[in-house]
Amino acid sequence: MSTYNLKMGKNPGEFKFICTCTICGTKYQMGRHFYNGKHIPRYKLDVCQSCYDSNRDGWHPDFETTLLSHLKENNIPIPERNNEGLYPRD
Ligand SMILES: [Zn+2]
Repeated sequence: MSTYNLKMGKNPGEFKFICTCTICGTKYQMGRHFYNGKHIPRYKLDVCQSCYDSNRDGWHPDFETTLLSHLKENNIPIPERNNEGLYPRD
């Protein structure tokens, strides 16, 4: 599961989330002006933009262990592999 830390910005009412990518562990910002990651509803997965962009055709085999353990932890059904033999990205 990702961890969310709410941080107050300089302006009252302005806030941002620091999210941790479930796949690679990179921290990225999400907030009113920052969209450096993606939430994948199908997997209830929060990933950084770079993981999202680089796995367009399906999750790279290096990430399968991480993906599958996340699915298992959250009781999410494991998807069918796509034509590339990979689990679909979203
Ligand atoms: Zn990542």
